[in-house]
Amino acid sequence: MGGSMVVELISVGTEILLGNIVNTNAAYLAEQCAGLGLSCYYQDVVGDNEERLCAVIRTALSRADILLISGGLGPTQDDLTKEAAAKVLERSLYLHEESRAALQAYFEKRGLEITDNNWKQAMVPEGCIVLDNPNGTAPGIIMEKDGKHIILMPGPPNEMIPMFETSVVPYLNGLQSGVIFSQTVKICGVGESKAESMVKDLIDSQSNPTIATYAKTGEVHLRVTARAENEKEAKKLVKPVVKDLKGRFGSSVYTTEDDVTLETAVVDLLRANHLSLVTAESCTGGALAARIVNVAGVSDVFKAGYVTYSNKSKRRLLGIKKSMLLKHGAVSKEVAREMAKGAAVFSKADVTVSVTGIAGPDGGTEEKPVGLVYIGCSVCGKVTIKECRFSGSRAKIRENTVSAALALLRECILQYCSEVTFGSKEK
Ligand code: ATP
Ligand code: MG
Repeated sequence: MGGSMVVELISVGTEILLGNIVNTNAAYLAEQCAGLGLSCYYQDVVGDNEERLCAVIRTALSRADILLISGGLGPTQDDLTKEAAAKVLERSLYLHEESRAALQAYFEKRGLEITDNNWKQAMVPEGCIVLDNPNGTAPGIIMEKDGKHIILMPGPPNEMIPMFETSVVPYLNGLQSGVIFSQTVKICGVGESKAESMVKDLIDSQSNPTIATYAKTGEVHLRVTARAENEKEAKKLVKPVVKDLKGRFGSSVYTTEDDVTLETAVVDLLRANHLSLVTAESCTGGALAARIVNVAGVSDVFKAGYVTYSNKSKRRLLGIKKSMLLKHGAVSKEVAREMAKGAAVFSKADVTVSVTGIAGPDGGTEEKPVGLVYIGCSVCGKVTIKECRFSGSRAKIRENTVSAALALLRECILQYCSEVTFGSKEK
């Protein structure tokens, strides 16, 4: 198998250049292309300007095999993508009868009047493949020249994504021989930049399999994708790379299964060790418990969740002393520790996890800034405290806190298990 084909993404629209809309199409297409085993080295954004559009298409053709272009297929004056692409490939446009009929049907069905400029959307370049757009008026277009492929799709994501899935993916698969197999190594408790630096050498030297890193909240996913004659061969290529990654990240790898999430991994660990769990949350307000309850049938391990948002409830429900709250403040490692211990005492759970922090936007001080979070975890009486400093919005801080709490839970349970096994071997 040769190296993978190279794709370049071009997002068209002055709105994107100005920052008026976020380029979610590029993020979506980049992720999809990685999954299809295509290499992407450049992504471009260009405004609604024919000259610059032609220039970017020419440049992309000089360095990629496939151009995936989104936006600018609409009926208005500033929609120029098709015209520019046809110009570069020296093709003239003609009225595509099926697209004209589809356009007419689309408008009649919705009781809308067709304006003259709408017919522009039924004009297509000679010798192209026309792609259906059941969710809008602009058809997609595929053109081929000298082994290069230009694919045009409408800008609105609700039109672009279904067209990509239904028509473009089969076309792209047809360009490449063999089959694709991929496996994802999911890591928690390691920051994105640290994770990337730990695999930089692999990424730099990759061709088949390829490794793509995806930063998730509090997690990093490394997707290993190989292309080969058949599935067995592709799996054989992926296996040693996954093994290498597992070696590099050790116990930070919580799964290599697609359908296992961080919360499932934690619940499985609790279940396997016959440990019950109770949460005690302040700044996350129950979001941690909600993540755990994502796992169906979790009632055999997850017993209860305290949401102790006020100081009074921390005292009443978890037995935190007033003097401690006064001395250290509710957001402190001491209170996180007492919350975890208190939850264990009152609920009799084997494992408890506590969260207290400043989610903002107000309430921060120089000493205790917004984003400061303490997480406590008690496993059979042994308490571990972790201090975290997150940034971003209130929602982002709370989301990060939940992921960090799950990661700490996992770490503490693994630690406990290794001590128990080690202890019994000693005897
Ligand atoms: P239309 O027929 O709606 O004009 P179009 O193919 O001409 O479709 P654009 O005019 O470029 O597409 O964009 C239309 C809308 O689609 C934008 O206002 C925006 O909401 C969305 N859109 C376009 N490009 C992107 C992108 N790269 N990422 C996310 N949304 C996009
Ligand atoms: Mg438009």
